[in-house]
Amino acid sequence: MDINKAKDVFRRSGIKFSQQRLQIFLLLNNKNEPISADDIYLELIKGESNNINISTVYRILGLFTKKGLVLKSNLNIDGKATFEINHRDHRHHLICIQCGKIVPISGCPLKEYERSLIKKTNYLILEHNLEIRGICPECQKIRESKDIGI
Ligand SMILES: [Zn+2]
Ligand SMILES: [Zn+2]
Repeated sequence: MDINKAKDVFRRSGIKFSQQRLQIFLLLNNKNEPISADDIYLELIKGESNNINISTVYRILGLFTKKGLVLKSNLNIDGKATFEINHRDHRHHLICIQCGKIVPISGCPLKEYERSLIKKTNYLILEHNLEIRGICPECQKIRESKDIGI
């Protein structure tokens, strides 16, 4: 995403442009996985010209979340909230409980189920959450080698 496109998104969402907002927005756009506020902060201060503080990061993330630009979730296994760009087509994730790796799953397996649920219950369904937890291939290998005592 380039700066003009970001400015456009801000304008449409009623968000005033600032350099720090732009930086966080671009950073989130370049991530394929959810990221915590702390990690965003750490990446930002790596840039030499940056003296943003952590509470500003939280404030901007709160604003983005409120405006629907960003989705907040508690995917991280250490209990920290994580943030990711709201790709209007929502996503589900596979989470490794061992190393905390988060992999987005393409497509939604619940669309058909939602349709049948609407028929059955007459609910207006707004959203759903689905997280799948397991152990990634790399961590399975570590487990196996531990089991046989290597
Ligand atoms: Zn793992
Ligand atoms: Zn879904």
